[in-house]
Amino acid sequence: MVKKKKRWTIRCQIIIYLKTMHVNVLFPINSEAFTYLVPQELQSYIKVGFRVEVPFKRTYKTGIVIAIDRKPSSTSLNKGTGKLKKSITLKPVKSLLDKEPFLPANILKLITWVSQYYLSTSGLALKNAVPSAFFTGKKAGKPRIVYEEEIVKLKFLNLTSDQKRALSKINSEDKGVFLIHGVTGSGKTEIYMRAVKSLPEGKQAIVLVPEIAITSQMISRFRSNFGDEVVFLHSGLSTGERITQWQKIRTGKVKIVIGVRSAVFAPFSNLGLIIVDEEQEASYKQFEGLRYSARDVALARGKLENIKIILGSATPSMEAYYAAKSGTFHYIQIDKRVEKKTLPEVEIIDMTKELKDTFSLSAKLVDALKQNVEDHKQSLIMLNRRGYSPYFLCTDCGHTHKCPLCNITLIYHKDTNTMNCHYCGSWLNPETLCPECGGKEMKYLGTGTQRVEEELNRLLPELSLERMDRDTTQKKLSHHRIVKQMEERKIDLLLGTQMVAKGHDFPEVTISAVISADIALNLPDFRSAERAFQLFTQLAGRAGRGDLPGKAYIQTYEPDHFVFDYVRNHDCIGFYEKEINQRKELSYPPFSKLIRIIFGFRTKEKAKKIISNISTVIKRMEHNNIEILGPAPAPIEKIRNLWRWHLILKGRNAKTLRMTAREIVFKIDHLKDVKVDIDVDPINLL
Ligand code: ADP
Ligand code: ZN
Repeated sequence: MVKKKKRWTIRCQIIIYLKTMHVNVLFPINSEAFTYLVPQELQSYIKVGFRVEVPFKRTYKTGIVIAIDRKPSSTSLNKGTGKLKKSITLKPVKSLLDKEPFLPANILKLITWVSQYYLSTSGLALKNAVPSAFFTGKKAGKPRIVYEEEIVKLKFLNLTSDQKRALSKINSEDKGVFLIHGVTGSGKTEIYMRAVKSLPEGKQAIVLVPEIAITSQMISRFRSNFGDEVVFLHSGLSTGERITQWQKIRTGKVKIVIGVRSAVFAPFSNLGLIIVDEEQEASYKQFEGLRYSARDVALARGKLENIKIILGSATPSMEAYYAAKSGTFHYIQIDKRVEKKTLPEVEIIDMTKELKDTFSLSAKLVDALKQNVEDHKQSLIMLNRRGYSPYFLCTDCGHTHKCPLCNITLIYHKDTNTMNCHYCGSWLNPETLCPECGGKEMKYLGTGTQRVEEELNRLLPELSLERMDRDTTQKKLSHHRIVKQMEERKIDLLLGTQMVAKGHDFPEVTISAVISADIALNLPDFRSAERAFQLFTQLAGRAGRGDLPGKAYIQTYEPDHFVFDYVRNHDCIGFYEKEINQRKELSYPPFSKLIRIIFGFRTKEKAKKIISNISTVIKRMEHNNIEILGPAPAPIEKIRNLWRWHLILKGRNAKTLRMTAREIVFKIDHLKDVKVDIDVDPINLL
């Protein structure tokens, strides 16, 4: 009797077993996947990579199937007993939205890698990888012409011997990472295009660029060689355009994607090559949400898909340079410009010795600019600070205005007559009386791009100029309009933030200048020398790319800073050798890996109390050769009304480092009133 009953139960379970199918569905939200039942009528159609509509919190939501399980999946089983849990009633999938997989398997793999490496969730990785419109049911739209009115077909150039050498090295291997370390104007774009051209039939390529403002020339060159085989992905696309472009990529209708950061997730299923131009650029790293580096994700995708990666730069990151030197990457050095053009002479201008009759421009630079206008040549000036003036100060008591939310000095913008916070975007109207002491002598101190523009217009009225910074390039395509004006020689001078320093190829520019080098030199960050060296070298590299030689001027109050010795001589290698020793001594990247954990609190008092709890947790942990610095207040104490503290974890082994970070986060999970953010491979510690 007893036996019979048991057999009957087993038979029942087998029937359930055969009829049950579960899928794990991922949504573009900060979470892992959820499990759903698949109704019988859908079972023979559903596949991994399909989009499905499922019930979610009393409504319906679109997600992606990332796994199919014909057995009751682990979440629906009681651990150990193998019996179906009574408490969980799984909801069924409502409908399928695709007839073939929407997301190729390689992208699903990449999403998993990203979520694990960055200690994030697969859902957040998905959100970054796929345009949100695909989950909200928006319709595709016809893309507008972004750049050229028509595609001018150009021939590939005859390669220089350096370019030939680079290309044959790249073509001699079918996987691995190549670092092209080629001086500014050495013709890297031509090498990129040839490398794409050399791909076997049917293979696809992604070209990553740091920001759209410096990309329009690269796009034009690719378009003139590859025509409609290229699409451009950037943040300025409308939803409809984004959908259209993405579909073209997914279905293999195009061969090449050029794009910023998130283009690394382009859903090609037969990828052969990823190129990362200006690989050292900070803008490859996302600063909020999923803090991924597109360069590093490209390297990971290269490994996962067994393909070639080309990193290109005139000033590679210390990490890339070190990897190349130690044989992890193939190293290709080009130390000459094409057609024997010379690198510009660099002059460091000591601002302590300058007469103070202008706010920011040395007499020498003004003279040189004046001469250049007379000679019908173009100039390019960088000041890495937008707005009019960084300090609005009471000359009686010294009071400066800070953002009430961010504890950061507000920057005065003259065009809008507001004091703006460059961190959170909030603004205040400037007051005529000091709010602290009632004093009437409020003064603007220091210079931003708006003020230099005003000064140049006053000193050199004959000179026509355009300003390019985040304020003038907010509108779609406005950066392209400015670049075009420069190309067509409609203006004499381009003034702007670091946006003007990189990438551009304007043959008529013979003078490039940095107004205040000191901004870059004095950041409290172990990478500040590296950044400054890269920025000045790039800026100098904009001059003298055409027939006439160029000259670069760098204004500074610290002319003896060691960085200038190397900038002056275009001595990249010398700089690296010096800097790498520093890094080694202090055991900073590339000799270690860093993870930064940022804690945010509503009040200063809460911060103190909770931080002491966090410290106790950390003290009790085993450290496995991981150095833990902090918790300490972050250099920027408050952003968007959150008081910030941070921990920096440093170690040689990336895996143990990640494990330790995860353990810390796990152990403080029960603490309330604290927002925890993890930054794997942080690129600033502010
Ligand atoms: P980089 O990216 O290395 O700074 P670019 O790719 O912008 O340099 O090239 C600099 C300039 O040299 C461009 O105007 C480009 O058209 C030109 N150029 C590149 N390769 C050749 C070549 N083989 N022959 C003639 N001109 C070239
Ligand atoms: Zn603010």
